Amino acid sequence: MSDCLFCKIIAGEIPSNKVYEDDVCFAFYDIAPQAPTHFLVIPKEHISSVSAVNAENSAVVAHIFEVIAKLAAEKGMESYRVVSNIGEQAGQSVFHLHFHVLSGRDMTWPPG
Ligand code: 5GP
Ligand code: ZN
Repeated sequence: MSDCLFCKIIAGEIPSNKVYEDDVCFAFYDIAPQAPTHFLVIPKEHISSVSAVNAENSAVVAHIFEVIAKLAAEKGMESYRVVSNIGEQAGQSVFHLHFHVLSGRDMTWPPG
């Protein structure tokens, strides 16, 4: 999608600090980290949010969770949080599906 920030990051048109990439997904460190470790995992296919996941594209989401588990294990992350904000009221600011992976500090519940 031509005017999507994360599609531009995937295309290399906007630089990012890459964590991982394969045919299906791309992972990179968040520009404004909310924990000592904070990276985002996104599908290469433009999907606007969890609300647009369906039977045709849900395999991408399953793959992303496999990648999150692999990256967390590689980085020695024993405790971490995976977050996806859907819609502006929940805090979504970029409308390309992304999973925040946060680790390295105590976290509170419920989230703010
Ligand atoms: P959301 O607010 O939609 O849940 O998450 C979007 C995330 O993207 C935010 O945590 C924000 O810091 C991050 N972000 C926004 N613009 C950029 C950018 O240009 N580069 C990187 N690496 N992260 C960004
Ligand atoms: Zn996009």
